[in-house]
Amino acid sequence: MTPGVLGPAGAPPIAPGAGVVTVAGIGFGRGCPVRVIAGPCSVESLEQFRETAQAAKAGGAALLRGGAFKPRTSPYSFQGLGRAGLEIMRSVGDELGLGIVTEAMSPDEVSLVAEMADVVQIGARNMDNRALLESAAASGRPVLLKRGLTATVDELLRAADVMIAAGNERILLCERGSRTFEPSTRNSLDLAAVPEISQRSDLPVLVDPSHATGRADLVTPVSLAAIAAGADGLLVEVHPDPARALSDGAQSLRADAFGAFMDRARAMAAAAGRTMGP
Ligand code: PEP
Ligand code: MN
Repeated sequence: MTPGVLGPAGAPPIAPGAGVVTVAGIGFGRGCPVRVIAGPCSVESLEQFRETAQAAKAGGAALLRGGAFKPRTSPYSFQGLGRAGLEIMRSVGDELGLGIVTEAMSPDEVSLVAEMADVVQIGARNMDNRALLESAAASGRPVLLKRGLTATVDELLRAADVMIAAGNERILLCERGSRTFEPSTRNSLDLAAVPEISQRSDLPVLVDPSHATGRADLVTPVSLAAIAAGADGLLVEVHPDPARALSDGAQSLRADAFGAFMDRARAMAAAAGRTMGP
């Protein structure tokens, strides 16, 4: 893959046929099964993360997610467990044999996150933070790059280009909804961005139905639509007891409902001529 994933709208993807990003032995992208990355918004304790991770593994998740450094809007909200959260994720990931995805919010957090996790996540609020993009790229880890709250598809692809130009092509893009005038959901999911990005780049595209909607009751239907639209994977928040979650409980699937969610996703993938992996 060469820098310049952008290309004009509708142009064929660069290096067609490539576009598989392998993370902890699991391929994402063209020709790969639909992958699900599941876990709590924030790591709150060893018990909370382990219970969620066990449900994620039993349901067929490919990787675990969790936040240790949290980009909260209010300074008075839970900010995450930091290094202790990373240690919890690493130990549970190793115990269950699953890779870990977690966010770094600033360049000085990247080396610790890259040492402890399998994928460095760059959050929506940091999509165009060039120093962070370059530092994440230089870490050598794959990077999960979320679309900014008000970023265009072009801007998302340009942010990916910054990392490709810095020498890291192992990028997973993630559509997580944009901020719009619509108050019934936390954000508005741009489902058309999924096939649009796939036409203009060979990077895998994930959909985050949790942050896109802010509502657990919408996570399943939106996930099914994302699979039908060709998403290479889903990033889903799951919690053992969403009512008591320290962040984003309203949009988190219950851990004991994750298996049923995956059954619905598998049925949709089959209807779309696709498969779901672990
Ligand atoms: C997250 O995935 O933990 C997160 C904070 O999402 P976003 O950056 O999309 O708001
Ligand atoms: Mn969250």
